[in-house]
Amino acid sequence: MSRTYKQYINGSWTAGESTETFESENPATHETLGTFHRGTEADVEAAVAAADEAFEEWRSYSRIDRAEYLWDVYHELRDRHEELGEIVTRECGKEISEGKADVTEAWHMVEWAAGDARHPNGDVVPSEVAAKDAYMRRKPRGVTACITPWNFPVAIPFWHMAVTLVEGNTVVWKPAEQTPWCGQIIAEMMVDAGIPDGVFNLVQGYGDAGAALVDDDRVRTVLFTGSAEVGHEIQQQVSADPHKRAACEMGGKNAVVITENADLDIAVHAAVMSSFKTTGQRCVSSERLIVHTNVYDEFKSRFVELAESVAVGDPLDEETFMGPLIEPEHLDKVTSYNELARDEDVNVLVDRTELDASEIPDGHEDGNWVGPFVYEADPDDDLRCTSEEVFGPHVALLEYDGDIERAVEIQNDTEYGLAGSIISEDYRELNYYRDHTELGLAYANLPCIGAEVQLPFGGVKKSGNGYPSAREVIEAVTDRTAWTMNNSKEIEMAQGLSADITTSE
Ligand code: ADP
Repeated sequence: MSRTYKQYINGSWTAGESTETFESENPATHETLGTFHRGTEADVEAAVAAADEAFEEWRSYSRIDRAEYLWDVYHELRDRHEELGEIVTRECGKEISEGKADVTEAWHMVEWAAGDARHPNGDVVPSEVAAKDAYMRRKPRGVTACITPWNFPVAIPFWHMAVTLVEGNTVVWKPAEQTPWCGQIIAEMMVDAGIPDGVFNLVQGYGDAGAALVDDDRVRTVLFTGSAEVGHEIQQQVSADPHKRAACEMGGKNAVVITENADLDIAVHAAVMSSFKTTGQRCVSSERLIVHTNVYDEFKSRFVELAESVAVGDPLDEETFMGPLIEPEHLDKVTSYNELARDEDVNVLVDRTELDASEIPDGHEDGNWVGPFVYEADPDDDLRCTSEEVFGPHVALLEYDGDIERAVEIQNDTEYGLAGSIISEDYRELNYYRDHTELGLAYANLPCIGAEVQLPFGGVKKSGNGYPSAREVIEAVTDRTAWTMNNSKEIEMAQGLSADITTSE
């Protein structure tokens, strides 16, 4: 029998105001993993009030003292690596190496944030006036709403929360409704670390709880990772309030460019990883492969062969490459985009929308299974399937002729600007791509997936405003003060501005 878990508000585990609960399900089996109290507006209100109340005291601690709590979390993440990796895989269906990598990425982020507490914080800045000392100092902004998605259920929460807490803000976190069990375990870790009451609060539930959080006047910063639809709604709402700030990281219609100078071994390897790892459910997954005509046929036959045979199956099995999709509604969405592509008259090369019964592991018949869907389309055709984000193993081959400028033009022909990669042995092509693509994350001779916490992460255009990551999240959750101090008894101004006060006498 599965347990019913509570929310964590103001230092206590509480069912909250609602009697409504929801379940977490294993997407590979539909087994129930746990039952969770569904957060209401009243629960959000209580959590924000607690975070607001706790802020003054929390900000008064030194950064190093605040980081000490996170070091405890860091050790627990490391000590429980195998166990938590398996829980990630059971709750969100990513194959086991990805489940474990999610936990590793989380402790890397905690290590970065807690380690940063002992690093210089702010800048000493020169002044024109010799007697003036000028500094840039930072202050925490206050209550921070962290709204996270299901696909990195341990890593992304720490991308949001680790730096935020070290910088002296308090947190109300709403994990994704698909992965509340990971949310529960992270909250237990915060409690184990002895984090003071109200500094960290967990509200479980759905978009309505997230919306209530964004709406609360006491929330100063919203950190959001998720869909472009929700992210843009949040950005618009927050922009109406001058006290608030939103840092949003959304999806993409990412591409891999394979030029005529590509090493095709790298190209095929990188393209398969970019398109099918995490069953295409990464915000950086690639749904467009832009391939030069001189290498097109060879690339196509090698890519198609792998797409036909790539292993879909039990995500706990180390031989599996692709696990299930997160939920039945998402399976419907991916399936309907595959149908849309057919309706838009593209040339379908691989269609594993319906997997063979023999491909589905025993006991997993109820999982949200789908395999790769690969097609050829004309990059100049105005198609929904090549321009809208599917968030699944749905990938278009777009053949191009001409130079790197043409490839980059196709790459940039999207409203999104998150991630991309180029495969080429020609450094001029690589550098042109680097300098002219409209992307937040760009890779050369690599898949277009794979983030390390010490690098900025985030996109441009419809993909976000590039904040929620290690260094950049500091900008989002603090305000800067330019602090100038006079060491002289005289007042002297910069730019030759007179400091004399003249009077009518
Ligand atoms: P995905 O498509 O990856 O599930 P969503 O944008 O739907 O992305 O969800 C990401 C997070 O945002 C989840 O925690 C979800 O509950 C939350 N969310 C959904 N709708 C809203 C909303 N209107 N306001 C705030 N948060 C929301």
